[in-house]
Amino acid sequence: MGRGSEGPGDDGGHGVPSADGARREPPAGFVGCDETIEKLYFYLDGELTEERRLEITRHLDLCGPCVGAYGFEAELRKLVATRCQDRVPDELRARVAEALRAESATAD
Ligand SMILES: [Zn+2]
Repeated sequence: MGRGSEGPGDDGGHGVPSADGARREPPAGFVGCDETIEKLYFYLDGELTEERRLEITRHLDLCGPCVGAYGFEAELRKLVATRCQDRVPDELRARVAEALRAESATAD
């Protein structure tokens, strides 16, 4: 007895798939937060294919927390780029990834 908005089905319209999104599945190609965070590095490095970039962009459009993570990572990269003009050290990347993971875990 979930939704009782509609009266008893006297329509007899059983088995007809509703085209009006009865399911709650994410749109096709929608990547999860974990995947987005993981790919942020590649996204920022420009190492993703156009298709992948679009997926990340689409996710960032819909997901506030990930936009925050993206902004954080982008700022960090800018900082590192101007300071050492080098790639982010693996150790730092790992720490940032860990921090982002913890953040997204608590920001529920
Ligand atoms: Zn997200």
